[in-house]
Amino acid sequence: MNSHNRSELHVLCSSGQLLLQPLWDRLRAWGALIQSPFFPVFFSITTYVGFCLPFVVLDVLCPWVPTLRRYKIHPDFSPSARQLLPCLGQTLYQHVVFVFPMTLLHWAVSPALLPAEAPELFQLVSHVVLCLLLFDTEFFVWHLLHHKVPWLYRTFHKMHHQNSSPFALATQYMSVGELFSLGFFDMMNVLLLQCHPLTALAFHVVNIWLSVEDHSGYDFPWSTHRLVPFGWFGGVAHHDLHHSQFNCNFAPYFTHWDKILGTLRSAHTK
Ligand SMILES: [Zn+2]
Ligand SMILES: [Zn+2]
Repeated sequence: MNSHNRSELHVLCSSGQLLLQPLWDRLRAWGALIQSPFFPVFFSITTYVGFCLPFVVLDVLCPWVPTLRRYKIHPDFSPSARQLLPCLGQTLYQHVVFVFPMTLLHWAVSPALLPAEAPELFQLVSHVVLCLLLFDTEFFVWHLLHHKVPWLYRTFHKMHHQNSSPFALATQYMSVGELFSLGFFDMMNVLLLQCHPLTALAFHVVNIWLSVEDHSGYDFPWSTHRLVPFGWFGGVAHHDLHHSQFNCNFAPYFTHWDKILGTLRSAHTK
């Protein structure tokens, strides 16, 4: 790379950093909250419930708004309160009883440090994409293994398959073992790539959104998988098919691993 290209890249990187600096400065002002041991659980629950809530409202409205049914994978299905509440209860219970003690331990061993400089925009985006690709691969291997080995399926994964027609709040309806595996993959990638704390937050938000969208039961024209070209993303119908057929579409987001292993099945969406 010659000196001209290098200086152009430097200017581009600096402007990307400048772009995120005001946001990062604002977040750092809340340093006491972000660095507290309560923050990871608070952030995880509020983001998850915040993303689920619009879909819960749509499910309530669905019987009275026929237009909405055009975008539903199962037009005649709406989860009842008896299905929704245990899912929400399970998420809150697991976060308080299992996740919080783990984050407390992590906080005591290695408290979060907040650097003064924001990450460069390009670095943030590329790290989030890399984290997603790594997470997708790790979960694909975990998921395939838990469907091939009956003991693993019964012990750790069966609970998540209790809802054959998924809905948003069923996303985190899973055993503690599965929740910790997902949390471990999530954390490991951030550490592996030495992501900036802002990048780690962005990855967690994107990861939670994609998982909720996959279980929402709604396939809108603006759904994420329709915005990603070349069918790289499976989307909601893709994961819905896994919940009903068990033997296909093991990757959570991308389609390449299922394509390579011949386990990709496409659903005829509307
Ligand atoms: Zn699922
Ligand atoms: Zn499964």
